Amino acid sequence: MPELPEMETYRRLLQERVVGRTITATLVQREKTINLDPAQFDQILVGNRITLVDRCAKHLLFHLESGHILLLHLMLGGFLYYGTVDDKLGRTAQVTLSFGQPILYFHGLRLGYLHLLTAGQLDERLDSLGPEPLDAAFTLSRFTELLEDKRGILKTTLVDQHWLSGIGNCYSDEICFDAQILPTRRIPELTQEEIKRLYFSMQKVLKEAIQYGGYMEPPLYRDDHLTGGFNDRCRVYDRGGEPCLRCGQPIIQSKLSSRKVFACINCQH
Ligand SMILES: [Zn+2]
Repeated sequence: MPELPEMETYRRLLQERVVGRTITATLVQREKTINLDPAQFDQILVGNRITLVDRCAKHLLFHLESGHILLLHLMLGGFLYYGTVDDKLGRTAQVTLSFGQPILYFHGLRLGYLHLLTAGQLDERLDSLGPEPLDAAFTLSRFTELLEDKRGILKTTLVDQHWLSGIGNCYSDEICFDAQILPTRRIPELTQEEIKRLYFSMQKVLKEAIQYGGYMEPPLYRDDHLTGGFNDRCRVYDRGGEPCLRCGQPIIQSKLSSRKVFACINCQH
């Protein structure tokens, strides 16, 4: 499932491509993906111009001239493609937005959604999200403060969107590996030194993942060489059985309440 770096990659690339463009047509092939009647969805969107592409946690926000916002969550299996009728992918798109020639295709949106909201509705929807790890206000002391109230397991806490938003299965493991801390540790047992390492690993791993375009592989457009560049740079995620890049011992894959966990039990403590 795409996390903060994947959605930030999409945000940056789409900001350059769709801002200022007017939607000329919509096509909804799966009504459950949207929140309105397709005719109403089309009526509000056609003729409307995109003024800003923003991101909040794992959501992408397309701000429109009318004041409406398209809120996208890709969940599991969703991805985007920006191209023309000639170079589109040979797969069904649940929703398409045309901007004259270029078209934005929303693929794999079975669990994911694209909802058209007013500003008030958007605030309500995003209200319960925790702080963003890369926000300037999210300092080491804020992180320490937030951990003080927690009793649970580190991994489960890191992926809790109400506590901290944007991190999921992949980056929680990558952050713990970088900090040399086991994701299965209990939070009250973490030392101040370990909390500090976690904080700086979080900053480092997320920024590096954004720099390399996240781990989701399908390119956003033809000749897109950025998206998915971090996939080969994951140190533990999806590398069960492969040698640890730090110590050479095999990466262990385990399960923590239905979530996959990847860690090196030799050099993470
Ligand atoms: Zn190791």
